[in-house]
Amino acid sequence: MLSFEHLYSTLPEPLWVATQVTPVADPELIAFNAPLAEELGAKEIPDSATLAQWFSGNQPMPDAKPGAMGYAGHQFGNFVPQLGDGRALLLGEVIDQDGVRRDVQLKGSGRTPFSRGGDGRSPLGPVLREYLVSEFMAAMGIPTTRALAAVASGERVVRQMAEPGAVFTRVASSHIRVGTFQFAAAQRDEALLKALADHVIERHYPEAASAEDPYMALLEAVVARQAVLIARWMSIGFIHGVMNTDNCSIAGETIDYGPCAFMEQFDPQKAYSSVDQGKRYAFANQPAIAQWNLARFAETLLPLMREEGDALVEQATDAIRRFDPFFAAERRRLHANKLGLAEESDQAMPLMEGLESQMQQGRMDMTATFDALTHYAASLSDEHREALLSLTTQPDALAAWLDNWRAEQVASQDSQRLAAMRHANPIIIPRNHRVQEVIDAAYDGDFAPFHTLLDVVTQPFEDSTEARRLAAPATESEQVLRTFCGT
Ligand code: AMP
Ligand code: MG
Repeated sequence: MLSFEHLYSTLPEPLWVATQVTPVADPELIAFNAPLAEELGAKEIPDSATLAQWFSGNQPMPDAKPGAMGYAGHQFGNFVPQLGDGRALLLGEVIDQDGVRRDVQLKGSGRTPFSRGGDGRSPLGPVLREYLVSEFMAAMGIPTTRALAAVASGERVVRQMAEPGAVFTRVASSHIRVGTFQFAAAQRDEALLKALADHVIERHYPEAASAEDPYMALLEAVVARQAVLIARWMSIGFIHGVMNTDNCSIAGETIDYGPCAFMEQFDPQKAYSSVDQGKRYAFANQPAIAQWNLARFAETLLPLMREEGDALVEQATDAIRRFDPFFAAERRRLHANKLGLAEESDQAMPLMEGLESQMQQGRMDMTATFDALTHYAASLSDEHREALLSLTTQPDALAAWLDNWRAEQVASQDSQRLAAMRHANPIIIPRNHRVQEVIDAAYDGDFAPFHTLLDVVTQPFEDSTEARRLAAPATESEQVLRTFCGT
């Protein structure tokens, strides 16, 4: 079905180590992303039983060549020289319909040389969560790894309790991380490091090859993509939760959906992850953390760069600092769209700051607020104005903000701008309590709620009764306060 190539595996060990899949007891297909398979060049999609065999790894797909990728990483600031794919196997790359090389990886497919104490498996819950959230991000146009398949393993995996297991198939522009570079650098083998960097330039940043210093150009390009990515995350309240350097993609995609969650009631200091006690990866810290990760990336590249000594450090530091203007420009563009303003409006930033403070002080749900504002912008009706004001505990203050916003917005309103506003403001996000609800149902053997939620979050601008029901913020008793990595 997919035709695999194997460019990454031409890189020397231990960047990639051939490893066999450990079969599972009784694979059963949960979900398969046929449109994505088509995008990857699949002509015919076989029946569910065959898909279950292939995407559990029980039967090798023709031409697949499974292997684990080596990587290191700073986890919550502490360097771990060897992490690697402990429960994932790269099957190979496919060239998609646009001619882009993309990785296909099984996750939960058994132990690898990098498994350390782990069992190489995934519980069902995190597999469903990653499926839902990554496909939602894709539907929002936010760079992300994709979900191709989820297969129940028919086995139990033991975490806090025994849970059903599953295998997830992930598609990525590549699975190369900042941690991959840290791993290569830790081998103290400059040829290995250079081979990795050249692979990345050829694959993701070909324009860097002709720069005066290709490795400096690579750093600059990665900084730019990360800055855009983090701005996009924040525009919809996404909190990654584990922004370790091993979870930071060189291609600038969202990767490794663990305890991630979307902000509901607006609070810049919000962190959900149970493992993030110090709130290192809280919502508002994400740009600074991305920059910190990029500094670790830069350190690995220094030996390959042309300049030397202080001049080199200064150049690399400047490259990392350029995160700020890239981030600010993207954020400004996104803010203008979210507020229905012209992209060049100089009021986008102050108005957004004003609205953020309204949302925080008025205990407003972020997604519901922008959805209500979008409806009001389109109709300017009293009914929609009241609906928006009903979301805050401080309606007078919000009404004053609305007057300022209208003065800026009405003057420049047109249908194109309203369409851009709609596309910046989803009706629905995969809310934490809804994700938990469908996981709970799946644990009882009922996958229908998962499929329903997947349908609506992958059409996040489509209004329907079902979408409205699933879009509603959690009531006090439904609120999820903590999320878990679930490894
Ligand atoms: P994560 O938190 O999923 O980003 O994983 C961090 C590291 O732990 C990676 O090297 C994973 O491959 C490894 N890991 C996570 N879960 C398991 C598992 N069940 N078995 C083996 N390795 C694992
Ligand atoms: Mg990871």
